Amino acid sequence: GKGAAMVTAVAYRLAAQRKQIDAALAPFLLSLETLREVKNKMRTELEYGLKRETQASATVKMLPTYVCGTPDGTEKGKFLALDLGGTNFRVLLVKIRSGRRRSVQMYNKIFAIPLEIMQGTGEELFDHIVQCIADFLEYMGIKGARLPLGFTFSFPCRQASIDKGTLVGWTKGFKATDCEGEDVVDMLREAIRRRNEFDLDIVAVVNDTVGTMMTCGYEDPNCEIGLIAGTGSNVCYMEDMKNIEIVEGNEGKMCINTEWGGFGDNGCIDNIRTKYDKEVDEGSLNPGKQRYEKMTSGMYLGEIVRQILIDLTKQGLLFRGQISESLRKRGIFETKFLSQIESDRLALLQVRRILQQLGLDSTCEDSIIVKEVCGAVSKRAAQLCGAGLAAIVEKKRENQGVEHLQITVGVDGTLYKLHPHFSRVLRETVKELAPQCDVTFMLSEDGSGKGAALITAVAKRLHNVGQK
Ligand code: BGC
Ligand code: MG
Repeated sequence: GKGAAMVTAVAYRLAAQRKQIDAALAPFLLSLETLREVKNKMRTELEYGLKRETQASATVKMLPTYVCGTPDGTEKGKFLALDLGGTNFRVLLVKIRSGRRRSVQMYNKIFAIPLEIMQGTGEELFDHIVQCIADFLEYMGIKGARLPLGFTFSFPCRQASIDKGTLVGWTKGFKATDCEGEDVVDMLREAIRRRNEFDLDIVAVVNDTVGTMMTCGYEDPNCEIGLIAGTGSNVCYMEDMKNIEIVEGNEGKMCINTEWGGFGDNGCIDNIRTKYDKEVDEGSLNPGKQRYEKMTSGMYLGEIVRQILIDLTKQGLLFRGQISESLRKRGIFETKFLSQIESDRLALLQVRRILQQLGLDSTCEDSIIVKEVCGAVSKRAAQLCGAGLAAIVEKKRENQGVEHLQITVGVDGTLYKLHPHFSRVLRETVKELAPQCDVTFMLSEDGSGKGAALITAVAKRLHNVGQK
């Protein structure tokens, strides 16, 4: 009868819908073979970055950090640390004790960096930073103390020593003018001089990955890799000096900041980039750059999700075919929302409530689809990140010439820490793609602050740098 015909019509419509959704998400499903290919390509690019003839044009820059060892527990003293480039900007006071009462104590203050300053002039940015330092010193009552400072600056820097770093290019949400090609330590010193109110002894400029590795290395000497899966994505690791062709000397090891976010900028992974990835790239502050980062890090995953949702809505599969004002807004899906939406403990009604908060009116069906989209995007991110990490641990295994490698990776970042599935999928992928490596993941307790202080302590002891 008529009823049966209607049921058939609805079933038919649902099946057609399902097909369209599956088709949109299909390019996000990566086979094991594809992931292996990604791992192999990453390995090739890592080697390019280390070789003298190819490093200048390499997309994975493999930047020497002049950090040559992990801490040994004898570090001590009071240090200031700055942490710029993650989710928050912070100023920290770090007290390190050595010996039997070995411990690290930290006090920190979070400051906002307004968008107009992140994307204004370099001078304004550094004046703002120094203003925040002044507030902090005042607050802690240590304005006269001229403490040694470690500057965690989470952007690619070419270093010629531990206390010099030329910004290669901004990434993530930063785009201040007149900074690229400049020494960020000089810019900070000049801003301090302009203010003419206090003096600081800037001893080290440190990438957040390196700070993370050092922090975990303080507890576990087997930690020779640092991973950030947060707003941005990056890895550092201890490389044999003899393999770092652009640095003099063949003895011992040096930490390399890989800047793997640039992987794919030569088109080598374009075969797995979707039209959504391309849209996200084109709408970003740095089109064409950091292609791997844009598929794997918190700043962009929500944007990919948003692009898919817009497409599905245009196809009439979501939100009654209506693209709302909020869905047009860049950046609405922050990592914390993705994490909430994908949480298994969350009932669909709560997913709808989160979408509501974001200004998206959804039906129950809509919320199921949104959750599915988030799942596809974050799973691919974790797998790609795992494929990259597998290339790194395999390289370390070969460096050491062992059948089996035991290694610890220090990890930090909002995506790794907050997302309900990212860390598990990442770990599973590494295990699958690097079966001869036994990888322990160690969460870093505030690597950017503590790590910068530890590196500063080591640098002061070894080189007696700073004090200019
Ligand atoms: C930067 C890296 C940084 C990573 C994580 C990337 O955008 O280029 O230097 O380590 O983000 O913060
Ligand atoms: Mg950070």
